[in-house]
Amino acid sequence: MTDVIRIDNLTKTYGKKRGVTDLSLAVKEGEIFGFIGPNGAGKSTTIRSMLGFLNFEKGKIEILGKDSVKEHTSILKEVGYMPSEALFYPAMKVSEVIKFAADARGLDCREEAAMLCERLNLDTGKRIKELSLGNRKKVSIVCAMQHKPKLFIFDEPSSGLDPLMQNTFFELIKEYVAKGATCFLSTHVLSEVSRYCDRAAIMREGRLIKVDKVDNLTESTTKRVKVTADGAHEDYLYNGDVNELIKKLAGKNLQNLYIEEPSLEDMFMHFYEGKEEK
Ligand code: ADP
Repeated sequence: MTDVIRIDNLTKTYGKKRGVTDLSLAVKEGEIFGFIGPNGAGKSTTIRSMLGFLNFEKGKIEILGKDSVKEHTSILKEVGYMPSEALFYPAMKVSEVIKFAADARGLDCREEAAMLCERLNLDTGKRIKELSLGNRKKVSIVCAMQHKPKLFIFDEPSSGLDPLMQNTFFELIKEYVAKGATCFLSTHVLSEVSRYCDRAAIMREGRLIKVDKVDNLTESTTKRVKVTADGAHEDYLYNGDVNELIKKLAGKNLQNLYIEEPSLEDMFMHFYEGKEEK
């Protein structure tokens, strides 16, 4: 399988502040690839560098086999990019924004746009200023998808969307990917990554700290355990067989017990510090 995204040794600084340091990453055709990390990890910097919106000091990026700097315009034609902010001219109607985006590409996307608006339950007669954040996000989604791009690049796409629409959004991605597209999804929502992505990269403080199949990343036996027993409350990470945990707790008088997936922060702890585990 060919690399749809290939980043080699990307370094981007903002003056003295670090943005991204020595990042190398490859995304294969047909993957739904998660790009995860807390705020400030370098996700947007990477994406903006990929799209040629930022100048970077070191490294090389190829998108769909093209150089991100030299062939930036040609890359944008084949990519569906959804930025984290859903900003449009407030007085424009939804239908006008969508048509404007298609016209900018010189394409007639009416059929696909109509399908997307229906699936996303988007009222195209409204003006942008009348829309909630969730509905503005839907406009972004239509603009990113209507030209059926080979590669989707989404930056925090689902924030503001209600769970039903998040589901529709990911169904749409899966459908496009089934037809040959590739998806690069930046998010800090771990559950989205574990549900929808094939592989994921974890970023922290501008550096790549792990890239692996999601099954391997989330297969960790670590759980967050919240237990109230014998009048005392405990909250800790447990790494091991859940059956053993239950046996250990069986002798206690339990008032409450939660065994949860670790959060993204927990995962970072698990991978890099190993603290707090029992
Ligand atoms: P993320 O998208 O993961 O939240 P960013 O790529 O936005 O992370 O930020 C990575 C680092 O680069 C952060 O330390 C951030 O403060 C810094 N940074 C991002 N954009 C700018 C900017 N325009 N000027 C200065 N520093 C920036």
